[in-house]
This record gives sequence, C-alpha cells and structure tokens, in this order.
Amino acid sequence: MSQKLLKLIHKENVSPSSDIYHFERSDGSNFEFVGGQYVILNTGNDEDGKSIKRAYSILSSDSKKDPFQICVKRLGTGKASSILPELKLGSELEYSGPWGKFVGDPTWPSPGFSLILATDTGITSLAGLLLSKKFSGRLDSTTAVWFKTKEEDFLSENELRKILKSVPNFPSIFQIPPISASDRVSTVLEILKSILGDCTVPDNAFLSGDGNVLREVRSELIRLGTLESRIGMEAFFHTQKNPSPVISLG
Ligand SMILES: Cc1cc2nc3c(=O)[nH]c(=O)nc-3n(C[C@H](O)[C@H](O)[C@H](O)COP(=O)(O)OP(=O)(O)OC[C@H]3O[C@@H](n4cnc5c(N)ncnc54)[C@H](O)[C@@H]3O)c2cc1C
Repeated sequence: MSQKLLKLIHKENVSPSSDIYHFERSDGSNFEFVGGQYVILNTGNDEDGKSIKRAYSILSSDSKKDPFQICVKRLGTGKASSILPELKLGSELEYSGPWGKFVGDPTWPSPGFSLILATDTGITSLAGLLLSKKFSGRLDSTTAVWFKTKEEDFLSENELRKILKSVPNFPSIFQIPPISASDRVSTVLEILKSILGDCTVPDNAFLSGDGNVLREVRSELIRLGTLESRIGMEAFFHTQKNPSPVISLG
C-alpha cells in the first residue's frame, strides 16, 4: 500500500507553549474527516530507531475543504512535540487516519442534551466537535465545558474565540488544580455537579483530555443515568488507570 503523506503548508505560534499547524494531503486529494476525529502523525524516529507516532485531534471544521489544522502543546521534554515546531514549511509527514470511531458514528449523538467536556489540551477535540456538521443543528441542546489550570496557555480565550467565531455556544471555562494535584478530580466533579444541577442528565457526552479526570466524570455520568454507550472518551494523557499500590502483607 502506498504511503499516506501530509504536507505542512502553514504554522502559527499561538502561545509560548503551542503551535497551530495547517496540513493538506501531499497527493492533492481532499482530506475527509468527521469533526472531533484525530490523525496519527509519524514525526520521525527516536534514538533507538523506533518511529514516533502521536495522535492529534483536528481543530478545524469538517465543513471546510483542505487544509485542516491541529494545535500541539510543546511539552519541553516530549519527543514529537519537540520535533514539530522545527518542521519546515513544505515538509511531509507520514500519517494514518482520520481515527475516532465514536464521533464518526452517524447515529451519535442521539436526540437530546449533549455535554462536551474537555480538560487541558482536550480543548482541540471539543472545538472540532462544536464546529462539526453533525453538531451544527443541535448547538442549542449542547453544553460545552473546558477545565484548565491557571497556568495553561495552550490556547488563550481570545485564540479560542477566533477559532469558534462561527459557533454561538462558547465553552464555559473553569479553573482547576494542576495535573498532579490531589484535589483535581474532586474539583471537576464538584463543578460538574453545579453545571448539571439536580435534574439534567446528558443523553450524550464526549470527554477529552486528562484520563484520570475523564474516567471519574464518565462514572459519574453513568451513575446519573447517561447510557455508557452514549459516552465517548479520548484520554490525551494519563491514558491508563494508575495501578493500585502494591500492599505488602508481611
Ligand atoms: C486521541 C488523542 C488526541 C490528541 N490530541 C492532541 C492535541 O490536539 N494536541 C496536543 O498537544 N496533544 C494531543 N494529544 C497528545 C499527543 O498524542 C502526544 O501525547 C503529545 O503531543 C506528547 O507527545 P510527545 O512525543 O511530545 O511526548 P512524549 O515523549 O510521548 O512524552 C510526554 C509525556 O507527557 C504526557 N502528556 C501528553 N500530553 C500532555 C499534556 N497535555 N499535559 C501534560 N502531559 C502530557 C504524555 O502522556 C507523556 O507521558 C492527543 C492524544 C490522543 C490519544
């Protein structure tokens, strides 16, 4: 099978720690995707010769023709996120996708109230969904929420407003404790409770960002009555539940 390649045609540094990249397919054909889906980029090989493949959610609207955009956080020590800012315009990267079966399912969301919730860098997939064709007719029954730390400068509110200028419902933004803080999950759950009140049970939900937070939010939504099959989740980091500490009995 022939290699699938994307060409970098534009990049913008949008904050000290993030860049937006505009890609199009190298063979000139359209890049078809459903809002909220992601691509996997092969950014090169590490020192052991292993390819560095990373997933990035598509930030731009699925109703726009090429190019499409992603926003990547510079993590300092991260492999792919250190290579990408050095990429020259015209460079080509091998890719796979778009991926994301859940958002790609034409039967989701079902009629009713939808909650789109993101933490940290998960805002990219939240934006992709709000801008998507499938949500365009149902934004009045959709609530979008972004939980971020005070220090997070991935996308400023101004930048996000520019990206979401065609969408009437701008996400409610809540400040939460740092990624390693012990009260991070409980803070999110408290805020979630206040947003949903006593009686609003989402019929559909999509969660993206910190896996440690999302797993608890999903459990809470199921407890409230949202069908598990109607909840999509993409952990960008903390993808695995931390194993329970080993307890020594003797
Ligand atoms: C479905 C999906 C969509 C994603 N979409 C995006 C996106 O739109 N934008 C984006 O910047 N990243 C996104 N990511 C994360 C991305 O795939 C990489 O994990 C990230 O760029 C780090 O790769 P790296 O090679 O630079 O770091 P690595 O060398 O892999 O290591 C960096 C470490 O940082 C952790 N990490 C990853 N993201 C964060 C974060 N936000 N805050 C703190 N720690 C983190 C990783 O878990 C890892 O332990 C997505 C991940 C998934 C699974």
